[in-house]
Amino acid sequence: MLALHGDHPLTLARIRRYVLELTGEDWFRRRWPQPMRLHIADGRGDRHARCSSCDGLLFKLSFPRATRSEYFVLHELAHACTWHTAQTDHDLIFMRALLVLVRKRMGRSAAELLRREWQAARLVT
Ligand SMILES: [Zn+2]
Repeated sequence: MLALHGDHPLTLARIRRYVLELTGEDWFRRRWPQPMRLHIADGRGDRHARCSSCDGLLFKLSFPRATRSEYFVLHELAHACTWHTAQTDHDLIFMRALLVLVRKRMGRSAAELLRREWQAARLVT
């Protein structure tokens, strides 16, 4: 449900602007002060959105057309934010970061919906 929230598909240019604006916000810089360079790429030929990095500094976030929605952008960005702290791909550290991003950008009710989905799937208590 959240995946399809808002306008989509977003253009890559809009995703770039969105990410640039978000990562420049004060609260974001305070929460994730580590240097992070983000490159938004076309995920053509792939089925899933991805976040990859060779050095933990420069991140490539790729979005196949079907994944160009705000939620997927926040999901991949949360991977970059927790690259050095999460133990596994979708662990609690990652989930907490994603929940913060969703609350800040998509609102409280979206964050609540996400938390309830995780609870239903027994990912969190
Ligand atoms: Zn993921």
